[in-house]
Amino acid sequence: MLEIRNLFKSYENKPLLRGISFSVSRGETICLLGASGSGKSTLLRMIAGLEFPESGQILFNKIDLAQTPPHARDFGLVFQDYGLFPHLNIFDNVAFGLKMRNIPAAKINSRVAEMMDLVNLQGFEKRKVTDLSGGEQQRVALARALAPQPRLLMFDEPLGALDKSLKDDLLNQIRAILHKTKIPAIYVTHDQDEAFTIADRILLLHDGEIIRDGTPDEVWKNPNSAWAARMLGMGNVIEGVVTSSSAQGGVPAAEDGGESYFIKTDVGIFTLSCRHKHSKGEKISLLLKQSEEGDDEIKLKVEDVLFKQDQFQVKLRGADLSGEAVSKGGLVIHLKDAPKIGQIIRVKVQVECLA
Ligand code: ADP
Ligand code: MG
Repeated sequence: MLEIRNLFKSYENKPLLRGISFSVSRGETICLLGASGSGKSTLLRMIAGLEFPESGQILFNKIDLAQTPPHARDFGLVFQDYGLFPHLNIFDNVAFGLKMRNIPAAKINSRVAEMMDLVNLQGFEKRKVTDLSGGEQQRVALARALAPQPRLLMFDEPLGALDKSLKDDLLNQIRAILHKTKIPAIYVTHDQDEAFTIADRILLLHDGEIIRDGTPDEVWKNPNSAWAARMLGMGNVIEGVVTSSSAQGGVPAAEDGGESYFIKTDVGIFTLSCRHKHSKGEKISLLLKQSEEGDDEIKLKVEDVLFKQDQFQVKLRGADLSGEAVSKGGLVIHLKDAPKIGQIIRVKVQVECLA
């Protein structure tokens, strides 16, 4: 359906997007996850036709949209600040795109009623925009975007202004509506929780490029870079130095026939099996995961304990024999029962290479 080919964009001679390519299929929701200022809104504006790329193409059903003005693209947009017309009531807001298309009044009435049902706002037609809560306003914005049956929906941080419980609620509603209508969608956010909830596929935007494109499961299991692991809030990214390898006989070879290495870090020495080739003395980033099957056990001192959903998030420091904290960044793990602050605990871990 939508296909983006090698888009480039700079502002004031500073490259912002450097060769962006991806596609979105029917019924698919992709989520573009990137830090603030990474160019997410610029990319959506280009797809909407409100801004132009320096080079590259935007195609829909194989047709290049370069000459197609925004209104003729049939794409719907939902913004963070809702963008509703304050002087119009809810009915007229939702009917706006339909009236622009000169659709007969009876058809408009039934379509608006259908949309109000879909976003669960039956009976709100006569109300003023200003009488609605943020979450309700965003549902009106969604109904307005959906009413003309767009070929593509784009969401630019739509839940940014809402509080947590409303956010979760609306996110699930949007997800259900997208699955029901099968409209392809691009959802832009800097919030990894949101991205993992809504996306069929996640694209990580960093330094003007898409550095990872995969299902939430694939991306979570293999972030593939230290930046991605941090962006995803995986937390435990640590630096280490390769001290020996199975190739040199210093470490037993990995069971799958791959190479094994010993890596020295602030919190201990770990065994790493890796498909990459590493040399002695090389600095690498590791993702450290809590794992019952982990071969390595580390001894850590509890620095802080936070209650999080049904678990305790425990902040730890590597501890030497005297119990002194030795690591710089600290590690985060999750436990069923809260330990005491200052207590030394042992954690089984597994490390993965983030090169
Ligand atoms: P995001 O949505 O990921 O936060 P934006 O696409 O809004 O990022 O902006 C990315 C960068 O491009 C920002 O540094 C912003 O200042 C710059 N930028 C956006 N629009 C313009 C413009 N019209 N002129 C100059 N710089 C711009
Ligand atoms: Mg933005």
